[in-house]
Amino acid sequence: MFHVEHCKSVRKMSVENLKKAVRNIPDFPIPGIQFKDITTLFQSADHLKELSDILFNTYKGRGITKVVGIESRGFFMGPAVAIKLGAGFVPIRKPGKLPYKVIEERYTKEYGEDAIQIHEDALTPDDIVLIHDDLLATGGTMVAAYKLVKKLGVKEVYINFLIELEELEGRKQFPEEVEVLSMIKF
Ligand code: AMP
Repeated sequence: MFHVEHCKSVRKMSVENLKKAVRNIPDFPIPGIQFKDITTLFQSADHLKELSDILFNTYKGRGITKVVGIESRGFFMGPAVAIKLGAGFVPIRKPGKLPYKVIEERYTKEYGEDAIQIHEDALTPDDIVLIHDDLLATGGTMVAAYKLVKKLGVKEVYINFLIELEELEGRKQFPEEVEVLSMIKF
């Protein structure tokens, strides 16, 4: 028991350190947005290792066969955690980037519409999938990614973000049965 509590408090401390390393950029890319810059988090070798260790410890033992990363900031930690989990990596990309046959999901952003795509043969019904992105804001991007992954008929889906902007309540957009985890909360 002591060991478990000790581990939890060590984890909490390290997440606090990771949070401090995220740089806030006011009014980027447009006025009113508090942009969370993760480059300051990734440039530290210690923080990078801590991030990948926490992700690995959170998802090991769940039988994950594919990590799906969302363009473009989901491409930083996605492959790193896939390697540690012994899983494959699948990119979800903006239209016109993937070379083979794709399926597409459109979604509404703050200003106008956007779309994301995945290769139609990237996942199979046997796959247990972890979808990863850097940040949960309104949830529009991840909901579209979740729909794409579900269309390919996989066995199970987990959702992960490095950062969650809690006041935007993006997690309310996901069905209750889906586990949505984030590491650093603002
Ligand atoms: P959303 O679809 O509203 O949840 O937005 C999530 C996507 O937009 C993620 O891929 C983020 O990289 C990006 N994003 C949205 N808001 C921010 C923010 N305040 N700081 C950094 N990235 C953001």
